Amino acid sequence: MHQHHLSEQRCFNHARREAVARCPECRRYFCRECITEHDDRVVCASCLKQSFAPSAKESRRWRRLARVGQALFCFLMLWFIFFMLGRALLHLPSEFHDDILGMTQEEAEL
Ligand SMILES: [Zn+2]
Ligand SMILES: [Zn+2]
Repeated sequence: MHQHHLSEQRCFNHARREAVARCPECRRYFCRECITEHDDRVVCASCLKQSFAPSAKESRRWRRLARVGQALFCFLMLWFIFFMLGRALLHLPSEFHDDILGMTQEEAEL
Protein backbone atom coordinates (compact mmCIF):
# COMPACT_ATOMS: atom_id res chain seq x y z
CA MET A 1 0.00 0.00 0.00
CA HIS A 2 2.70 2.43 1.11
CA GLN A 3 5.11 1.08 -1.50
CA HIS A 4 2.52 1.55 -4.20
CA HIS A 5 2.03 5.13 -3.11
CA LEU A 6 5.78 5.74 -3.26
CA SER A 7 6.12 4.32 -6.77
CA GLU A 8 3.56 6.82 -7.96
CA GLN A 9 5.81 9.63 -6.88
CA ARG A 10 8.36 11.15 -9.20
CA CYS A 11 11.86 12.40 -8.40
CA PHE A 12 11.99 16.05 -7.44
CA ASN A 13 14.94 16.60 -9.79
CA HIS A 14 13.95 14.17 -12.52
CA ALA A 15 10.27 14.40 -13.35
CA ARG A 16 10.43 11.25 -15.46
CA ARG A 17 12.12 9.04 -12.92
CA GLU A 18 10.34 7.02 -10.32
CA ALA A 19 11.05 7.99 -6.73
CA VAL A 20 12.67 5.31 -4.60
CA ALA A 21 12.89 7.18 -1.35
CA ARG A 22 11.63 10.20 0.45
CA CYS A 23 13.99 12.68 2.04
CA PRO A 24 13.12 13.08 5.73
CA GLU A 25 14.54 16.62 5.73
CA CYS A 26 12.68 18.32 2.91
CA ARG A 27 9.92 15.66 2.59
CA ARG A 28 10.37 15.45 -1.17
CA TYR A 29 10.68 12.29 -3.24
CA PHE A 30 13.87 11.40 -5.04
CA CYS A 31 15.19 8.78 -7.42
CA ARG A 32 18.06 6.43 -6.64
CA GLU A 33 20.56 8.85 -8.16
CA CYS A 34 19.49 11.89 -6.17
CA ILE A 35 19.26 10.25 -2.79
CA THR A 36 22.27 9.38 -0.68
CA GLU A 37 22.80 7.45 2.49
CA HIS A 38 24.52 9.31 5.28
CA ASP A 39 24.85 8.24 8.92
CA ASP A 40 22.23 5.53 8.48
CA ARG A 41 19.89 8.17 7.11
CA VAL A 42 18.66 8.53 3.59
CA VAL A 43 18.68 12.17 2.55
CA CYS A 44 18.73 13.98 -0.77
CA ALA A 45 21.92 15.58 -2.10
CA SER A 46 20.84 19.16 -1.40
CA CYS A 47 19.87 18.36 2.19
CA LEU A 48 23.17 16.56 2.67
CA LYS A 49 24.99 19.65 1.43
CA GLN A 50 22.90 21.88 3.71
CA SER A 51 23.50 19.67 6.71
CA PHE A 52 27.24 20.05 6.18
CA ALA A 53 27.42 23.75 5.32
CA PRO A 54 26.02 25.38 8.49
CA SER A 55 28.11 23.23 10.82
CA ALA A 56 31.28 24.14 8.91
CA LYS A 57 30.37 27.81 9.08
CA GLU A 58 29.57 27.42 12.76
CA SER A 59 32.91 25.82 13.56
CA ARG A 60 34.73 28.55 11.63
CA ARG A 61 32.89 31.16 13.66
CA TRP A 62 33.81 29.34 16.87
CA ARG A 63 37.45 29.18 15.77
CA ARG A 64 37.44 32.93 15.17
CA LEU A 65 35.76 33.49 18.53
CA ALA A 66 38.35 31.29 20.22
CA ARG A 67 41.13 33.30 18.57
CA VAL A 68 39.58 36.59 19.79
CA GLY A 69 39.21 35.09 23.24
CA GLN A 70 42.84 33.99 23.19
CA ALA A 71 43.98 37.50 22.21
CA LEU A 72 41.80 38.99 24.93
CA PHE A 73 43.21 36.55 27.45
CA CYS A 74 46.79 37.44 26.43
CA PHE A 75 45.96 41.14 26.73
CA LEU A 76 44.46 40.61 30.18
CA MET A 77 47.48 38.59 31.26
CA LEU A 78 49.85 41.34 30.07
CA TRP A 79 47.74 43.97 31.80
CA PHE A 80 47.74 41.90 34.99
CA ILE A 81 51.55 41.46 34.84
CA PHE A 82 52.11 45.20 34.35
CA PHE A 83 49.60 45.96 37.09
CA MET A 84 51.41 43.63 39.50
CA LEU A 85 54.78 45.08 38.46
CA GLY A 86 53.51 48.58 39.11
CA ARG A 87 52.22 47.57 42.51
CA ALA A 88 55.51 45.84 43.33
CA LEU A 89 57.48 48.96 42.35
CA LEU A 90 55.21 51.14 44.51
CA HIS A 91 55.72 48.85 47.47
CA LEU A 92 59.49 48.75 47.13
CA PRO A 93 61.48 50.52 49.86
CA SER A 94 62.02 54.21 49.10
CA GLU A 95 65.83 53.86 49.32
CA PHE A 96 65.79 51.57 46.35
CA HIS A 97 63.91 54.23 44.40
CA ASP A 98 66.45 56.81 45.47
CA ASP A 99 69.30 54.51 44.40
CA ILE A 100 67.81 54.13 40.97
CA LEU A 101 67.15 57.87 40.70
CA GLY A 102 70.68 58.64 41.88
CA MET A 103 72.20 56.21 39.42
CA THR A 104 70.26 57.62 36.53
CA GLN A 105 71.16 61.16 37.55
CA GLU A 106 74.84 60.22 37.71
CA GLU A 107 74.64 58.58 34.35
CA ALA A 108 72.93 61.65 32.93
CA GLU A 109 75.71 63.87 34.20
CA LEU A 110 78.42 61.72 32.64
ZN1 LIG B 1 16.05 16.71 1.14
ZN1 LIG C 1 16.54 12.20 -9.47
